[in-house]
Amino acid sequence: MAGRVDLDGNPIKPISICMIGAGGFIGSHLCEKLMSETPHKVLAVDVYSDKIKHLLEPATLPWADRIQFHRINIKNDSRLEGLIKMADLTINLAAICTPADYNTRPLDTIYSNFIDALPVVKYCSENGKRLIHFSTCEVYGKTIGAFLPKDSPLRQDPAYFVLKEDTSPCIFGSIEKQRWSYACAKQLIERLVYAEGAENGLEFTIVRPFNWIGPRMDFIPGIDGPSEGVPRVLACFSNNLLRREPLKLVDGGESQRTFIYIKDAIEAVLLMIENPARANGHIFNVGNPNNEVTVRQLAEMMTQVYSNVSGESSIETPTIDVSSKEFYGEGYDDSDKRIPDMTIINRQLGWNPKTSLWDLLESTLTYQHRTYAEAVKQAMSKTTAN
Ligand code: NAD
Ligand code: UDP
Repeated sequence: MAGRVDLDGNPIKPISICMIGAGGFIGSHLCEKLMSETPHKVLAVDVYSDKIKHLLEPATLPWADRIQFHRINIKNDSRLEGLIKMADLTINLAAICTPADYNTRPLDTIYSNFIDALPVVKYCSENGKRLIHFSTCEVYGKTIGAFLPKDSPLRQDPAYFVLKEDTSPCIFGSIEKQRWSYACAKQLIERLVYAEGAENGLEFTIVRPFNWIGPRMDFIPGIDGPSEGVPRVLACFSNNLLRREPLKLVDGGESQRTFIYIKDAIEAVLLMIENPARANGHIFNVGNPNNEVTVRQLAEMMTQVYSNVSGESSIETPTIDVSSKEFYGEGYDDSDKRIPDMTIINRQLGWNPKTSLWDLLESTLTYQHRTYAEAVKQAMSKTTAN
């Protein structure tokens, strides 16, 4: 850890970070990185701590004096401002961010992603504290290309689909399509953060994650989350594979995504934390443009990789089609394609993702199998016995 320098060769001074949403998927990986590779301190704020328990106990851990957990709901806790004041930097990860909630719990989604984030921005601005705010690639919505005729050659032209922080428009569906409640709330909080920077000098960085995936993402329904819960696609498909049931392809699985390994993405966040002069005032896409697949291709690849890591042959009908109405309910809509432009993050932070989709699925599904296979087997045999 000694002698660490930033991208301009200056020594990195230890700082204190107020991390809100530290107990979630991204937060747990960021805490792990900060504890094992840096001298920084973390005031970890969340309502849950299960995913960071291994970093908090026992008290003999080498970083025990550098991480402190505060069980706080930021909706209604006056301790929040004090923690932000104590820290040099605040990172806000707290959010409702599973698509199954956007159209079924739109009010909670809007409150969580906009209203609850407001005091965080305000306290940072008023107290002259730096903020790294987590937004989403979903603020881009649909691509311009999605509105071209299906057979238009322009659909192949990157100008119609590559998503650029400073030039791409944000294209959402109608208000009835409540799917966009999340994207719209995130867009408005981005605009507010940006305006605080412009009018009041807030030092900010906005992160737009493009489908970060890896161990500890979401939950396996009925094992460490509600049986009827619908997590994001990695956990949905993992659950299907663990239970030896077909993977469900929503509306034919034609949507395209680029997936990035959480550990690659965390490298980018650490560069932002430690290079404020290069990161302040910027919005960064963080994704892997080389890992694009359709959801159907993802299902096929996950089936193959899971079979390799578990040693179990795949089932006869590995996938089935379901309508989005059946799977998510009324008001669902989808982003058609998400390829991040990497120019800005490359120029400012010299960062590039490394891990291929195959490799990241191998390590993630090995983790899923090791963590859940036995518990799923037991839960399934109990259900059969009843
Ligand atoms: P996550 O759900 O695993 O983590 C969010 C954490 O915030 C949870 O631990 C939750 O308990 C906590 N939280 C929510 N409301 C809170 C409140 N009122 N008070 C205290 N804690 C609260 O999600 P994640 O994947 O780690 O995502 C983190 C951030 O990144 C979110 O803002 C999300 O919108 C954004 N994001 C993530 C991805 C991705 O690929 N994982 C993609 C786009 C955007
Ligand atoms: N999806 C699917 N089957 C599932 C879960 C998700 O086909 O069991 C699709 C979903 O409709 C979307 C994509 O997978 O097109 C990615 O979904 P995710 O929940 O990860 O979030 P998103 O990328 O849409 O924010």
